[in-house]
Amino acid sequence: MYYSKMLLPTLKETPAEAETVSHQLLLRAGMIRKLTSGIYDYLPLGLMVLRKVEAIVREEMNCAGAQELLLPAVQPAELWQESGRWQIYGKELLRFRDRHDRDYCFGPTHEEVVTDLVRREVHSYRQLPLNLYQIQTKFRDEIRPRFGLIRGREFIMKDGYSFDIDEAGADQTYRAMYDAYTRIFSRCGLRFKTVEADSGPIGGSFSHEFMVLAETGEDVVVSCTACAYAANLEKAEILPTESSLPVEPLLPLGKVHTPGARSVSEVADFLQTTPDKVLKTMIYQTDEGAVAVLLRGDHEVNEVKLKNFLQVSELFLAPEEVIRQETNAAVGFAGPVGLNLPIYADYGLGSAVNLVAGANENDYHIININFDRDLVVKGFADLRQASNSDPCPRCGAALEFLRGIEVGHVFKLGYKYSKALKATFLDDQGREQYMFMGCYGIGVSRIVAAAIEQNHDLDGIIFPMPLAPFQVLLVPIAANDADTMAVASRLYREIRAAGIEVLFDDRNERPGIKFKDGDLLGIPVRVVLGPKTLAQGAAEVRQRRSRAVQLIPLASLVAYLQDHIQAEMIRPT
Ligand code: ATP
Ligand code: MG
Repeated sequence: MYYSKMLLPTLKETPAEAETVSHQLLLRAGMIRKLTSGIYDYLPLGLMVLRKVEAIVREEMNCAGAQELLLPAVQPAELWQESGRWQIYGKELLRFRDRHDRDYCFGPTHEEVVTDLVRREVHSYRQLPLNLYQIQTKFRDEIRPRFGLIRGREFIMKDGYSFDIDEAGADQTYRAMYDAYTRIFSRCGLRFKTVEADSGPIGGSFSHEFMVLAETGEDVVVSCTACAYAANLEKAEILPTESSLPVEPLLPLGKVHTPGARSVSEVADFLQTTPDKVLKTMIYQTDEGAVAVLLRGDHEVNEVKLKNFLQVSELFLAPEEVIRQETNAAVGFAGPVGLNLPIYADYGLGSAVNLVAGANENDYHIININFDRDLVVKGFADLRQASNSDPCPRCGAALEFLRGIEVGHVFKLGYKYSKALKATFLDDQGREQYMFMGCYGIGVSRIVAAAIEQNHDLDGIIFPMPLAPFQVLLVPIAANDADTMAVASRLYREIRAAGIEVLFDDRNERPGIKFKDGDLLGIPVRVVLGPKTLAQGAAEVRQRRSRAVQLIPLASLVAYLQDHIQAEMIRPT
C-alpha cells in the first residue's frame, strides 16, 4: 500500500474528547472517527487491525469445532417476548417499529435468534452437539458509552452458542471454548488473566471472563498472590471469618442525640468510636419489595452478590423518598432497630457487639445494638465487596487488586433459553429432552483498543506483530533522490512478493514527519533507505518497540524481514 494513496488522516494534537490512551491513539493514528456518541467509522488502517483480530478468532473457533454462520442484526420482538427478555432487557435494547407497526430490536446479543434456528432445524441427538458462532455488529444503547471502542453503543462481537445433549457434553464444550479463548488472546499478543465471573441468578461457578490487564480497565480483578484464584470483584468471595474482636459484655441499648452526623465517619467521630463499630444500614428496592442490608461501617455492599442472594431480577438503592417513608427520617439516620423491612446482614458482622446505628429519627442514633437481642435478621450472607485486607477464599494468602478490560466471556447457560423457546430433541431412547446451552462472547472491536492500552509509548502505538495493520513500514528519506526512490520501489515490490504486509511511505515529506507518523501508527518494523545507507548497500532497520537499529544488507533484507516476522508471530500452542 502506498501511504500517499491511503485514507490515513493522522493528528498531531490529542483530541480533547478522548480520555484513554487507546481512544486518543485510535483517533490520532487515523484508525477511527466518531460518527455520533458510541458509534464509530473504521477507517482503512483501523479495519486492517480489526480483520487481524477476526482472522485469529475464526481460526481458533473453527479449530475448536465451532461453525461460523451469520444471523440477522434486526430481530422481531416476538422472539424476545418468548424468552421474556423484551420486558426485562431495559433501555439498552434499541427497539423500533417497521411500516406495519411491528416491533423489532437491533440485536445486542443472539440467544433468541440462534435458539429459534436450532429448534427448527435440529430434532435428534444425532445432530448434536452443535457449536455455532458469528462475527457481527451489535447494538447496546449503553448508558455511558466511553473510551472509544472499549464501550461503544455499536460494536463488533464474536458470539457463539453451543447446544449439547446434556450437562456433561456442555462441560466439554465449555472447556474447549475456554482453551480456544486462551489461545486467541495469547495469539493476539495480549497480557490477560482468566477470572471467575458472576453468572447471575442461573448460579454455578461456570462463568469465566478474560481480562486484559490495564490501568484504564473498568473491571476490578481480585487475584491471589499465592494460588491460582482470580475473580471479578463482582464475584470475589469472602469467607465468614472468626472474630478477632475482644469479648465484650453486652451493654444496654441507648439513644443519643447526634445532630448533623449522618455518614459513618461523622457518626464514629461524634461518638468517639471506630467505623467498624458503626452499622451501615442500606435500603434497597427490588422487584420483590424493599429490603435492608447491614454491614460494618468500613465495608461496602456488593450489589451483584446481594442481587444473586435475594434472587431478584432488579435491585437498586432506594431513592430518598422511599428511605424517608420507610424510616420516618432523613437519609443518614436509618437503622435496624424497629425497622419494618426484611433485614439481611453481611458475614463481616458475625460476632460484632454493641454497635451504633441510626435511630430512624432525624439527628438521633442508637448505641449498643446487639443481634438477636435488639433486632432479628432474616439471614447472614456474603454481601460485601472484597478488600485487600481480606484473605484469598481458597488458600488464605493475600489478595491483590488489578484493573482489567473484559475482552471475552464464556458462560454455561443451561436450559434457560431452550426451555423458554422449547428447543428440544429426541434422545437415543426416543424421549424428548431440552438442549443444554452455553454462550461465548468476544469483544472483537474492544480487543483493538485493549491491545493499544497495553502496547504504546509516548510516541504512539506499538502493535504486537500478529495484530499490526502492516508488518513493515518502508521509508525512503530522500523523496527527490531518483536513486533512492528507484531502490525503494524495487524493494517495495520484493517485500510484497515475499508475502509481507508493507506500507510504502512514498510521500514527499521531511524525514522527521515520516518518522513521527511511523511511530504513531505503531508498525513493528521500519526500514529506512537514503543515499547514505545505499552507499553501503544497506538499509536501516528499526524495531518500533525496542527502538533498536541495525544496518541490513539490501541483498538479505527480505529474508531478514521474513525471519523476523515469523519469530514474532505467536503461534497456537
Ligand atoms: P460489560 O460487562 O463490559 O458491559 P457484558 O458482560 O455486557 O460486558 P457480554 O454480554 O458478555 O458483555 O458480551 C461479550 C463481550 O462483548 C464482552 O466480553 C466484551 O468484550 C464485549 N462488549 C460488551 N459490551 C461492549 C460494548 N459496549 N462495547 C464494546 N464491546 C463490548
Ligand atoms: Mg460479560
